Amino acid sequence: MNNITLYLIIGITFGVLLGYRKLKASKQEFHNSIKPLNNPSKKPFPSLWRSILRDRVKFYNRLTRDEKTEFERKVHVFLLNVKIQGMNTEVSHEDKILIAAGAVIPVFRFSRWNYANLKEVQLYPDQFQIPDSTRMAHGLVGWGSNEGTVMLSRKSINEGFHDNTDNKNVVIHEFIHVLDKQDGKIDGILGNSMNDIDLMPWLHIINIKMNEIDFGTSTIRDYGAANRAEFLAVVSEFFFENPERLRTEHPGLYNALDSFYSEKN
Ligand SMILES: [Zn+2]
Repeated sequence: MNNITLYLIIGITFGVLLGYRKLKASKQEFHNSIKPLNNPSKKPFPSLWRSILRDRVKFYNRLTRDEKTEFERKVHVFLLNVKIQGMNTEVSHEDKILIAAGAVIPVFRFSRWNYANLKEVQLYPDQFQIPDSTRMAHGLVGWGSNEGTVMLSRKSINEGFHDNTDNKNVVIHEFIHVLDKQDGKIDGILGNSMNDIDLMPWLHIINIKMNEIDFGTSTIRDYGAANRAEFLAVVSEFFFENPERLRTEHPGLYNALDSFYSEKN
């Protein structure tokens, strides 16, 4: 090993450790505020809503009968607590159910979770302009004056729930960012799931898998290599849409995600 290689290794190790210390510090800022929730009345879950879940949501169809009842309850709670605002468009039952389903899927196994910092979902017919920018987006988590808002394109929502083989779903993607943001930062580290674990194995998996994407040898889509936050959102879409395929093709990554999204008290 020559000196340059040695310095490089020391430099990289030092950099990783510094990053790790920073992440450890940021984790402690996490607090999950529980706000009082409006709960569904004794009314049964509307049969129209159930038929939309059956027809459109593959995740729901994989659940047992009891789990389906619980999923419906969580969808109902979400819709009673988060306003869905149409932006120059009428919000249909289908819009509401697909948005709520995409929001519930990532947190389905968390027993006490609610989207405490979310005020509103804005629904646009198609792609929309990013606030204070000339660029367009299909999905976005708001910041600044748009804090507490998720913006979504109906066209992209429908594409996400239509094709269950492309590992893409804009609703799941944006709600992973909301989940990621609840500890104060969108950084690929989920405060509630990763608070008490050693982050090094997770950071190691991220580095390896992002390198594979960069080298063009991965079945994870390219956008996953943009940064850690996008990596988490992209692989989570894959995990919730095609768990069996992810388990076969990326077993270590599958196991990590399976533990992050398993039951929490
Ligand atoms: Zn994203």
